[in-house]
Amino acid sequence: MSSTRPKVYNFGAGPSALPLSVLEKAQREFLNYENTGMSVMEISHRSKTFENLLNKTKHDFKTLLQVPDNYEILFMQGGGCTQFSAVIYNLLAAKRQQIPEEEEFNPPLDYFVTGSWSAKAADEAKRLYNNVNIVIDVKKSKGSFGSIPPKEEWKLSGSKAAFVYYCDNETINGVEFPFIPDIDPSVPLVCDMSSNILSRKFDVSKFGVIYAGAQKNIGPAGVTVVIVRNDLLTNPKSVNDKDNGVTVIPTMLSYKVFVDNNSLYNTPPMFSIYISGLVFEWSLQLGGVEAIEEINKEKSKKIYDLIDKSKIYRSFVDKPVRSRMNAPFRIVPEELEKEFLAGAEELRMVQLKGHRSVGGIRISMYNSVTSEAIDFLINYMIEFEKKHAI
Ligand code: PMP
Repeated sequence: MSSTRPKVYNFGAGPSALPLSVLEKAQREFLNYENTGMSVMEISHRSKTFENLLNKTKHDFKTLLQVPDNYEILFMQGGGCTQFSAVIYNLLAAKRQQIPEEEEFNPPLDYFVTGSWSAKAADEAKRLYNNVNIVIDVKKSKGSFGSIPPKEEWKLSGSKAAFVYYCDNETINGVEFPFIPDIDPSVPLVCDMSSNILSRKFDVSKFGVIYAGAQKNIGPAGVTVVIVRNDLLTNPKSVNDKDNGVTVIPTMLSYKVFVDNNSLYNTPPMFSIYISGLVFEWSLQLGGVEAIEEINKEKSKKIYDLIDKSKIYRSFVDKPVRSRMNAPFRIVPEELEKEFLAGAEELRMVQLKGHRSVGGIRISMYNSVTSEAIDFLINYMIEFEKKHAI
């Protein structure tokens, strides 16, 4: 059996490159997982074999992020977008538990809007609930995304809020928080880390809920990893409670249901979980998140140094908040962008086109994008500039 394939350098924003050694291992085990005579996709999710796989995957993930014991790890479905609503249901219900029954219940939900994904999350909140407070909306205040205003400009609701939400890395706009927002410590901090989880060390204990769709640094699409602090877990109720349904959690969105059933309430996306487990093993073999963080720092520094020195490449993101995962940029004049992409494709550098909403080029350099791939791309960018600089 051959595992060869044409070599490409994949800079896709997600789904994106997976480590070759992971794919090769999956290929070796594809027909016969752990000598069961079955593929992972063919065994019962209630079997001991799968339960062991699930528990090891969870354990390795906890090790990678040094997740404290008062947090639970869930494997859910529906991608990052489903979490836009899941966090609202779960955390309104959790907040309800703190407010006396007879009191009116309408706490604000605080949203940082620093790019397209947090904007979508805030829009979903407004659809579901009538008290959404925008802490900052960078596009509204500055005309476009690409910066994170200082704390003095944030309009937080303080301890009244049911949670504060932000997106750590805006995949489309290339804006990444260089810090964890400082908020009232009694309010749960919720974070979308879909496109930068496992790329750097951070203090999990600062958060109430963290979630990440898998298809960047974790594994294949289909599974979403959720980290939730266990005091925020509440039982899903029925509509006949006093709050007219605001704190009713649909069963499949309930963190507590997933915790109580070890993410096996229904059939989980087994193959996605399996590959994610292989990626976690690979991440640990690399030396864990600390080692990965160093490599990521170097890769992104090389790219931004080149852009900053260039006469034709233009970043539109403020230096301190530039993403180490996604570097969107424009080429001046813009007509050159097509040629840039076509030339890159010829050299088998793929998925470099910027998101349709911002245009230009986007280099995604997730954990499994090698330094070799980055160097190859940098050489191409230098040669392209030599050919076109005036
Ligand atoms: N949040 C971020 C930061 C993302 O990059 C994405 C998608 N790439 C999403 C949320 C939505 O995830 P999904 O497509 O899995 O619903």
